[in-house]
Amino acid sequence: MTRLIFLGPPGAGKGTQAQILASTLQVPHISTGDILRAAVSDKTDLGMKAQAYMDRGELVPDDLVLDMIRERLAQDDVKPGWILDGFPRNVPQAIALNKVLEEINQAFDRVINFNVPDEAIIVRLLARGRKDDSESVIRRRLEVYREQTAPLIDFYQTQIITVDGNRPMEEVTAALKQVVVG
Ligand code: AMP
Repeated sequence: MTRLIFLGPPGAGKGTQAQILASTLQVPHISTGDILRAAVSDKTDLGMKAQAYMDRGELVPDDLVLDMIRERLAQDDVKPGWILDGFPRNVPQAIALNKVLEEINQAFDRVINFNVPDEAIIVRLLARGRKDDSESVIRRRLEVYREQTAPLIDFYQTQIITVDGNRPMEEVTAALKQVVVG
């Protein structure tokens, strides 16, 4: 049973690594960013509400994201485990996640924290060229990370494992597999 929370700044490579590990472990990769981008492109109610926040690099309001996660974790394919990528993003979301997990009789196994210095992040994000990857939005996303998401490192203090994400992708994958699979 593998239930993992991936934590780290934007552009730390969490998404790529989550995808690789999810396929190795045969569990769903749950990315709130991906779900939100799909909602925006499908112009659903959720997408319409979320878009302006995403375009500015702000967090989408907790209640919207929490409804989304609650619904996703209730689906059948998550029974063997999951990798959460991009959620929780602040302490209230982390507290809410604990509650949701308690309700469905699940618990997470580990929190993996991807450590990457700011300079490397900015270079990576500018290279990625997503719609919300303009330099001013990147700076805002980094600020939001520092103010709201980084405190989760303390919140999960006893359950966290830090991985150096500032290395070639294959090396990060190898380190991650060692930590998670052994
Ligand atoms: P990401 O793909 O994880 O970088 O997320 C892209 C954008 O989606 C973020 O900048 C936020 O606007 C929004 N987002 C993703 N996950 C969350 C979350 N857990 N809480 C609030 N907003 C989120």
